[in-house]
Amino acid sequence: MEIRFEKTEHPMEKPDQKNLGFGKHFTDYMFVMDWDQGQEWHDARIVPYAPIAMDPATMVLHYAQETFEGLKAYRTEEGKVQLFRPEMNARRMIKSNARLCMPAVPEEMFVQAVKELVRVQEDWVPSEPDTSLYIRPFMFATEYSLGVHMAKSYKFVIITSPVGAYYPEGIDPVKILVEDEYVRAVQGGTGFTKCGGNYASSIAGQVKAEKMGCTQVLWLDGVHRKYVEEVGTMNIMFKIAGEIYTAPLEGTVLPGVTRDSLIHILKDWGYKVNETHLSIDDLMKAGHDGTLEEAFGTGTAAVVSPVGELVYKDDKVMINDFKIGPLTQKLYDTLTGIQWGRIEDKYGWILPVE
Ligand SMILES: *Cc1c(COP(=O)(O)O)cnc(C)c1O
Repeated sequence: MEIRFEKTEHPMEKPDQKNLGFGKHFTDYMFVMDWDQGQEWHDARIVPYAPIAMDPATMVLHYAQETFEGLKAYRTEEGKVQLFRPEMNARRMIKSNARLCMPAVPEEMFVQAVKELVRVQEDWVPSEPDTSLYIRPFMFATEYSLGVHMAKSYKFVIITSPVGAYYPEGIDPVKILVEDEYVRAVQGGTGFTKCGGNYASSIAGQVKAEKMGCTQVLWLDGVHRKYVEEVGTMNIMFKIAGEIYTAPLEGTVLPGVTRDSLIHILKDWGYKVNETHLSIDDLMKAGHDGTLEEAFGTGTAAVVSPVGELVYKDDKVMINDFKIGPLTQKLYDTLTGIQWGRIEDKYGWILPVE
């Protein structure tokens, strides 16, 4: 794929690396490519970051035909820049798009676009400990028409954002509300896709959780409201009596790259990983009888996020005295070690950006 490059006349000032937060600052360039029926993907370009003008009847604004991805570029101590399993994001987006009847960006094209966008603005990858360049590819229907149908044109865009350390004050466990009213996904729906609509409908649960002093929601399955699925924007794992439990990928749960990577590492360390339906009753029981040793969310932003407390109806359980558990800490150190190049990448997950 040939990518046209348009140099910016107004390079932006870089934000303070010690105070980046998440998704608040954007960079000099974005990648854009268009798809039109009969023409496939064309006009791949890296252009100055700028607003995208849209007709008010643009279909995505009405019917939410939109998907996205999230990954990071990391700067090693030697100053090199590297990506972590970007092909996994490419493959996941192909599956998301297929479900929403949107065209696929072929894997090689996706990885090339990400790599090239990071390469041309390599100086935007921060170097302070645990900072990174967050990469947000997304696609949406650009045709303007109010009929509900598969659009005849789409845009694929990638923007990037320097992000701060997720845990500037050390890893803090979170309190989680088990949601028994709203549901996130059902079999046959879009739970396995990263589509904007999933998040729009999840905000009500998030608002409710925050009102109750919790950070996030733990979603139960949409039919029985019984089996544990995942947290807001993370998959979730439990260590119960020495074994690991996480929900299976059967269409309702997002197939996280972090989830997959941690399962590899855990199996490598000899842990039994059960990808199985775990009921909330069994989980709360394990919390009360002391066999629930650790619980943690997994996702690109936080890597792992220890769960210190679960609130379900009138019941609550504290996990590991609201402290990060030893396995959670070891997983965090190992995966971040690979991502930032401090630990040898024996799994072949790193793609250098030269
Ligand atoms: C993105 C996301 C995850 C985590 O996926 P990663 O590839 O590990 O970042 C988990 N659940 C939901 C709902 C997500 O949107």
